[in-house]
Amino acid sequence: MSGTAAGGGTLIVGASQAGLQLAVSLRQLGDTAPITLVGEEPHPPYQRPPLSKEFLAGEADLASLDFRVPGFYEAAGIDLVRGERVTDVSLTADGRPGSGVAVTAGGRTLPFDRLALTVGSTPRRLTLPGSDLGGICVLRDRDDAAHLRSRLLAAGRVVVVGGGFIGLETAAVARALGKEVTVVEAAPRLLGRAVAPVVSDFYLRAHRRRGIRVLLSGSVTGFDGAAGQVTGVGLADGTRLPADLVLVGVGAVPRTELAERLGLECDQGIVVDAEARTSDPAVCAAGDCTVQPHPTTGVGRVRLESVQNAVAQATVAAATLLGLPAGPRAVPWFWSYQGDLKLQIAGLSTGYDEYVVRGDPDSERFSVLYYREGRLLAADSVNSPADYMAVRGALTRGATVEPGAAADTTTALKLLVTGPRTDAVLPT
Ligand SMILES: Cc1cc2nc3c(=O)[nH]c(=O)nc-3n(C[C@H](O)[C@H](O)[C@H](O)COP(=O)(O)OP(=O)(O)OC[C@H]3O[C@@H](n4cnc5c(N)ncnc54)[C@H](O)[C@@H]3O)c2cc1C
Repeated sequence: MSGTAAGGGTLIVGASQAGLQLAVSLRQLGDTAPITLVGEEPHPPYQRPPLSKEFLAGEADLASLDFRVPGFYEAAGIDLVRGERVTDVSLTADGRPGSGVAVTAGGRTLPFDRLALTVGSTPRRLTLPGSDLGGICVLRDRDDAAHLRSRLLAAGRVVVVGGGFIGLETAAVARALGKEVTVVEAAPRLLGRAVAPVVSDFYLRAHRRRGIRVLLSGSVTGFDGAAGQVTGVGLADGTRLPADLVLVGVGAVPRTELAERLGLECDQGIVVDAEARTSDPAVCAAGDCTVQPHPTTGVGRVRLESVQNAVAQATVAAATLLGLPAGPRAVPWFWSYQGDLKLQIAGLSTGYDEYVVRGDPDSERFSVLYYREGRLLAADSVNSPADYMAVRGALTRGATVEPGAAADTTTALKLLVTGPRTDAVLPT
C-alpha cells in the first residue's frame, strides 16, 4: 500500500490507452492516493483502433468504443478530468522529487506528488498549397473519425495520401463501401517502415485485386479546390487525381511539448528507460509519446505506436512510480485489419538480416518469420492466426523456429518450435 506525502497524489496527463492503464495499474498495485487523469478530449477514454476499421465501416458506434462504463472512474477513485488541455507543468524544488503543479487551458491548477505523461501523438500534417481545404481529413481521434465517416458516406472519389497502416485500413473500408479509391505513397513500397518487401508486395497486389489504385513513389504537390472544398490532388509528375475526400495518413508526431517545458530529454519522443522513467527519474512517461530501449534486444531506441506497448509500458510506469519492481516485459504484438486481410505481428523485426516466407502470399494466407544471426525476432502473419500464436509463444519462452524448417507448411508451426535457446535474450 502506498500513499503520498501531501495533497496532490498522482497526475496523469493524457486520458487514453496508456493513461487509463497507468491509473488502473496504480490501483491494482494497491495505491490508495488520489489519482487525477486529465485529458484534452471531451470524451471518456476510448479505443482508437476501431476508428479506422469497424467504426469507419459502420459496424460499431462510437459509444461502444469507451473502455469503461461511466461509473467506473468514481468507483475506482480516479478523478477523470475531461476537455482540459494541460498547458504548463512545473516541478517544485521542495525536496519531494516528482511533485509539482500543472495548469490547464481552462484555468485549473492541478497539484501533484507524482507525474506521468501519457500524451500520445498528433497526426503529421501536410503544408502544401490547398492543405486547408474542406474534405482533407486526418484520423487520430473520435471527432476526426466521426467527421471522416460522414464525408466518406457522401464521397465518390477518395484519395488516401500515405500507404501506412491507417491509410490502408481506411482505403480498404472506402473501397468496400464502393468508393473509387487511390492510395498515393511516397516510398517505393507500402508499409515500408514496418514489414519486409515481400509483405509490401503482397499488400500492393491484394489491394489492387480489390480495385484500389495504388501509386508508389508518388509525391503530392498540392490540392485543387472549389468553393473551399477539395476537388483534386496534384502530383509532382503532373498527374491530377480527382477527389471529393482526401485522407492524409502520413504518420504521427509525438507530443513532447510538456516534456520539453520540464527540460526532459526528448529525441523524436520523450526518452524513457526500460522502467518508463524519463531523464528526471521521478517523472514517468508511457505510450506513443515515448522512445524507449528496444524492448527485446535492448539495442538502440524505438518508438512503438501500438495498444500493446501503451498497456505494457503504462503497467511498468505504475510500478516505477510506486517504487516497485517492474514485472517482465511481454513480447510486443500488433495487428492491422485491412478489410478481410488480417495482419498480426508478433515481436519486432527491426534489425533483421534474414527472413523466411511460410506459405504462398497469393493464397492470402502466409507468414514471414524474421531472424537476426539465426535468432527468431518476429513474424508477420496474414490471415494465419495459428502461426502468429506459435511465434508469440516461442518468443515469450525464448524459443525459436529454425530458419531451415520454418517454410514447411505440412507441419503446424507450433510443432516446429524448438528451444528455449540457451543464448536467447528473454523479454525483460
Ligand atoms: C485510427 C487508429 C487506428 C489504430 N489501429 C491500431 C491497431 O490496429 N493496433 C494497434 O496496436 N494500435 C493501433 N493504433 C495505435 C493505438 O491506438 C495507439 O498506439 C494508442 O492509442 C496509444 O495510446 P496513448 O495513450 O499512448 O496515446 P493516445 O491514444 O494518442 O492518447 C493520448 C491522449 O493524451 C491527450 N493529450 C495530449 N496532450 C495533452 C495535454 N497537454 N493535456 C491533456 N491531454 C493531452 C490526447 O488528447 C489523447 O487523448 C491505432 C491508432 C489510430 C489513431
